[in-house]
Amino acid sequence: MKSSHILLLATLTALSLPAQAGPECAVSLEGTDAMRFSTNLISIPASCKQVTITLSHPGNLPAKVMGHNVVITDKENLQAVANDGLMAGFDNDFIKPGDERVYGASKVIGGGESTTFTFSTEKMKPGGDYAFLCSFPGHWAMMQGKFELK
Ligand code: ZN
Repeated sequence: MKSSHILLLATLTALSLPAQAGPECAVSLEGTDAMRFSTNLISIPASCKQVTITLSHPGNLPAKVMGHNVVITDKENLQAVANDGLMAGFDNDFIKPGDERVYGASKVIGGGESTTFTFSTEKMKPGGDYAFLCSFPGHWAMMQGKFELK
């Protein structure tokens, strides 16, 4: 193959990649069988227009017993989002459909699973008082933390 063809191929490959958040805009955390997150702080640079969060569940219990998700909301709305999520039920991943207080959320996973989601920070402000939680019934009190854009 001529070198000009290789260059063209490389260019096309680069152009076809979807726009992705930089590595500083992505975080990973775990939710365990002990009903805990592996961190109580998610800190993202304010320059990130999108944030990607990967949640993994290293436990053994199934999603209906010890399911976890990650929900990003305002700190002041944490409990209300969790309560409405309880009513929404498992089939809605314990999030009220169309809940405008939620900036981003993952699906509910069980032991041995992981999930990744990406959300926009467009409606968030650097220094805002944000929180992350698991909205599985009864988990939010133990499974929550601070989400910061700084
Ligand atoms: Zn949970």
